[in-house]
Amino acid sequence: MLTTSSYLPEQAIIRDTVAAGDYYIKTIKAGQTVRLLDLEGNQAADTLFYSAANPSERYSASDTIREQGNVYLTSGSVLRSNLNNPMLEIVADTCGRHDTLGGACATESNTVRYDLEKRCMHACRDSWMLAINEHPEYRLNKRDIAHNINFFMNVPITEAGGLTFEDGISAPGKYVELKALMDVVILISNCPQLNNPCNGYNPTPIEVLVWN
Ligand SMILES: [Zn+2]
Repeated sequence: MLTTSSYLPEQAIIRDTVAAGDYYIKTIKAGQTVRLLDLEGNQAADTLFYSAANPSERYSASDTIREQGNVYLTSGSVLRSNLNNPMLEIVADTCGRHDTLGGACATESNTVRYDLEKRCMHACRDSWMLAINEHPEYRLNKRDIAHNINFFMNVPITEAGGLTFEDGISAPGKYVELKALMDVVILISNCPQLNNPCNGYNPTPIEVLVWN
């Protein structure tokens, strides 16, 4: 469902640009609102959430899908943890659909899907691993890298139940906004993938904005 936000960018307390292919990690306090802005369009932001107080509590795609009875994420979706607690709610969305089934790219899946020579290419899983390695203060380790959300990514389900990676439905300036319902750590890989249409074969920057 398409919904807009009344927050003004100039009133945000945080405005960070995440370069194409880079990672982003930050704590968002309960009650704060975070916006992911697709600056140039057709970019995938592969995102994980953790409870800041207890990093073993993390975003759970299966709990979220079961509770809302729908596989797509958009306005009104409550993102739930592996303990079935509400972590964040999507409060504005000008894109209309986000994926939580397709998973993140990895060097291993790149070789299976595309070519053995693709193994050395950058991938979301490596970006997350680099983030948690360079930021031990978040107390995350390899086991915490679980199923994720692909904001702005379009993975429609066929009538037979199949998953298809389609051209993105995002565009320059589209955004999704989430209100934190607990203190959460947000970990984003601004997807560096060059082999499928999730980034339009051309990774671009996103902006992260936070309001109190
Ligand atoms: Zn990726």
